[in-house]
Amino acid sequence: MRLFDTLTRTERDLRPIDGSTYRFYCCGPTVYGPAHIGNFRTFVLQDVLRRTLETGGTRTLHVRNITDVDDKTIRDSQKAGQSLREFTAGWTEKFHEDCAKLGLLEPHIEPAAVEHIPQQIAMIATLMEKGHAYASEDGSVYFKISSFPGYGRLSHLDERELHLGKTQNARSSSDEYEKDSLSDFVLWKGRKPEDGDNFWPSPWGEGRPGWHLECSAMIREYLGDSFDLHSGGVDLVFPHHENEIAQSRCACGGEFAAAWFHITHLLVDGGKMSKSLGNLYTLEDLAARGHTAAEVRYVLIGAHYRKPLNFTLDSLSGAREALAKLAKGARQLATKFPPETRLTSAEFGPFQSAWDCLTDDLNTPGALGGLFTGLRETAALTGNEAAAALAGFLAPASGSSAGASAIVVAPGSGGGAASILLAAMYSLISFQPVNTAAFSARLFCA
Ligand SMILES: [Zn+2]
Repeated sequence: MRLFDTLTRTERDLRPIDGSTYRFYCCGPTVYGPAHIGNFRTFVLQDVLRRTLETGGTRTLHVRNITDVDDKTIRDSQKAGQSLREFTAGWTEKFHEDCAKLGLLEPHIEPAAVEHIPQQIAMIATLMEKGHAYASEDGSVYFKISSFPGYGRLSHLDERELHLGKTQNARSSSDEYEKDSLSDFVLWKGRKPEDGDNFWPSPWGEGRPGWHLECSAMIREYLGDSFDLHSGGVDLVFPHHENEIAQSRCACGGEFAAAWFHITHLLVDGGKMSKSLGNLYTLEDLAARGHTAAEVRYVLIGAHYRKPLNFTLDSLSGAREALAKLAKGARQLATKFPPETRLTSAEFGPFQSAWDCLTDDLNTPGALGGLFTGLRETAALTGNEAAAALAGFLAPASGSSAGASAIVVAPGSGGGAASILLAAMYSLISFQPVNTAAFSARLFCA
């Protein structure tokens, strides 16, 4: 599998650096309201990446955090008259419900920032000791970006004519700031009256962690100092990911992420999505207009992740038709199989082009096209030919670590071959909720 890496601006092979498990981290949602379809474009593409790796036989470890303490969560919990914990728990639950509707695999680990305050404090202490951070008059602590010569490599600061030398005395205490301003960023925010009850003790006085720090601390906890891939929406490249690199490399000394996967933003009707324009859609908004989460998912994977996706309500109607066609094709194929079909090939047959698209920089629109072409080809096949052609769907790619080439469809597993075939087909591009774990367990029982 090859994927474009933001850091080196080249396509790179995705191979686990530890030789066994591909370990990747995704910046998760800030739980202060419902996630919108722009957020979900990122999460859906990350899901397709994981499924493609797993279908190809690579074991994965997927970590995605929950941001439950920052400027926005504190501000809005107070507006809602709830404790921060109560407020963020409600929105976390809502996020999980939406993820389930969209068929997203649950991350293996989903750490929350408030559960990792000691790890964040420990990282700041290390940065202070090593001279990369300093305390200010109000009990806050800042990262000194001029102390890390690698600062700006990911976002190519030099091409934006921003130089570390210009940062003398510039400081940013808010969690988010403009992409053309370069400043020391806050690691620990000294307690302020507007934070209410949301403060913790630290060696620098009471306060709370800055937003950028949590990912670095949780990555260290669950993935160590060097891991395979870091991912998020393109808007996180600067400053968030740049700051994560600075903190982690200075505190831990490892390589941090070996590669970076960024998903480009989404447009609505050709323009920016915003609350004031009334075009900031959530799954609930779209459901109220009669559209299913499967249709939303289909639209979200309909453009290549490095290109902006123009979302329109019409595209959801198109998705409905496409999904109906695919479902019909799958049903027709399923009727060609006797209940206990034995599948032995490891090729993808007529669906090879769909698979090749996915493994070539996660070309999801190409894969969708390939799926329709494959379906047309298999429609004319006999039962045996179709079984041989589709065996690849169910088998791991050749040379993969899973290594199983003979696959037996377990009898009596809820509809037998037909239902598994259907599940396999959907799992390739993943627009249907498929329980991959249960699915794999059944597939690899031979
Ligand atoms: Zn992050």
